[in-house]
Amino acid sequence: MHPVQPSKLPGTPVKRVVIAGGGTAGWITAAVLSKCLGQHLDIQLIESEEIGTVGVGEATIPLLMTLHDVLEIEEPEFVRATQATFKLGISFENWRDVKENYFHSFGKTGTSHWSAGFQHFWLEAKERGLGHDYGDYCLELRAGLDNRFATNEERSVCNYAYHFDATLYARYLRKYSEALGVQRIEGKIAKVHTDPTTGFITGLAMEKGQLIEGDLFVDCTGIRSLLLSDTLGVEYEDWSHWLPCDTAVAVQTASVGEPVPYTRSIAHPWGWQWRIPLQHRVGNGIVFSSKHISPEEAKAALLANVQGEVLREPRFIKFTPGQRKEVWRANCVAIGLSSGFLEPLESTSIHLIQKGALRLVELFPANGICQSDIDEYNLQARNIIEDIRDFIILHYKVTNRTDSPFWDYCREMEIPKSLQHRIEQFRQTGRLVNRPGELFGENSWVQVMMGQGITPKAHHPITRNMSNEALADFLSEVRKDVARKMVKMPKHQAFINTYCKAEPPM
Ligand code: FAD
Repeated sequence: MHPVQPSKLPGTPVKRVVIAGGGTAGWITAAVLSKCLGQHLDIQLIESEEIGTVGVGEATIPLLMTLHDVLEIEEPEFVRATQATFKLGISFENWRDVKENYFHSFGKTGTSHWSAGFQHFWLEAKERGLGHDYGDYCLELRAGLDNRFATNEERSVCNYAYHFDATLYARYLRKYSEALGVQRIEGKIAKVHTDPTTGFITGLAMEKGQLIEGDLFVDCTGIRSLLLSDTLGVEYEDWSHWLPCDTAVAVQTASVGEPVPYTRSIAHPWGWQWRIPLQHRVGNGIVFSSKHISPEEAKAALLANVQGEVLREPRFIKFTPGQRKEVWRANCVAIGLSSGFLEPLESTSIHLIQKGALRLVELFPANGICQSDIDEYNLQARNIIEDIRDFIILHYKVTNRTDSPFWDYCREMEIPKSLQHRIEQFRQTGRLVNRPGELFGENSWVQVMMGQGITPKAHHPITRNMSNEALADFLSEVRKDVARKMVKMPKHQAFINTYCKAEPPM
């Protein structure tokens, strides 16, 4: 099918919204639309228990709070309902090189001057033989590695996110959305009807014969992308030359010991492994390049590396990293895996879902769909995913690993010019300039650049205005402040026990 011509866009008001799919994407979209615009809309959500959901996606980033604030979700209730734990960052193990680790925290490292980030002062101090480990200046990093966590009502103690059970999260949001009037329809969509003149979707025919009609359709059908790709024919932009992993194998295990407040990401010679601790179990998986290891070998490596009793048979998930060329076409918006996929290295997919749903509210075509809204939606979606894509590629490209053909490929591969520029600028000057609206800030980029092994050749000259004493005092104050705050924080498990302990699952 050809793209819809702007002149064919029907200008009828949008009242009936049909969400196809009820995974994390479908239920986040349903919750956001019903909370923000529910009084003006009829919202239906179709999902099939038989098809099920992808069942992974359990680590998040701090901006999930924005979604929960919009939805007015109570934190302890949500944590208990989803068996969640707290997350202060990600421990990257064996990425820079075998047996070398670093931590990408959600916190701010040190304090910055308007002209130069903290790393410049730290680099100057290092050159003068002053200062300590870069991580000593970040509360979230030190607390994470010491297995501590605390928050209060203002969330002022530290910057954090959650690990949660994906199935329980979808169930929680379903209850939330149904209470706000969303109508759930169980069953399989057998056919998607379109209008041959406008190219618009008119209805979804269910296997059992029912026809679900609507004005706007949200495709949350997961990797199969039943509406946007299969029906409207929107093409996929494949990024696998930059992100060679194309398969995951996931397994759940029983908890052994207390949950740590961070995700573990452990690199292997052909991919990497995640470990996500929840209150009631642990989520594990390996993301790998099927050109470099067979699925059976990856599964064996996963089972050899997990701790605790295996609770379910491991599941394989095939994917192609990339993005649909448009995520909104005609009267169909794709949110979630149906719109594209970046591997979960920095836990960004749920964030992209949240952004997609909130953007839909911002640009909601209440008075009729117009091409300028579609273009704006697509542009914003592209900008955010390209920045995240570059950030993820950075972890593969900048490495000292030489132990396998996979890492040789990653080290040698060509990368997007946008990323090449950033790496070069940081390497030469220590500068990291964020683009407006970018998800990962200077702190994140600097932690990962240095963690992966880049030491800038120079840093900002303003740091040389400080005497040895002034520089040492400045760093020492930051470090003492981190230490002071950290010792006051309870252990992660102790905090959960008093604030939000979940009942054991039935
Ligand atoms: P799905 O969960 O696949 O849901 C699709 C829905 O569509 C289901 O309800 C299904 O029943 C329905 N459906 C499909 N076809 C039909 C049909 N014909 N009729 C009726 N219903 C239909 N993200 C993160 O943020 N953090 C992570 O740590 C993370 N880890 C991940 C690990 C892996 C290995 C993978 C693959 C992804 C990970 N993600 C992560 C991404 C995250 O899992 C997804 O973004 C999220 O689960 C959303 O999926 P979805 O709702 O788009 O699709």
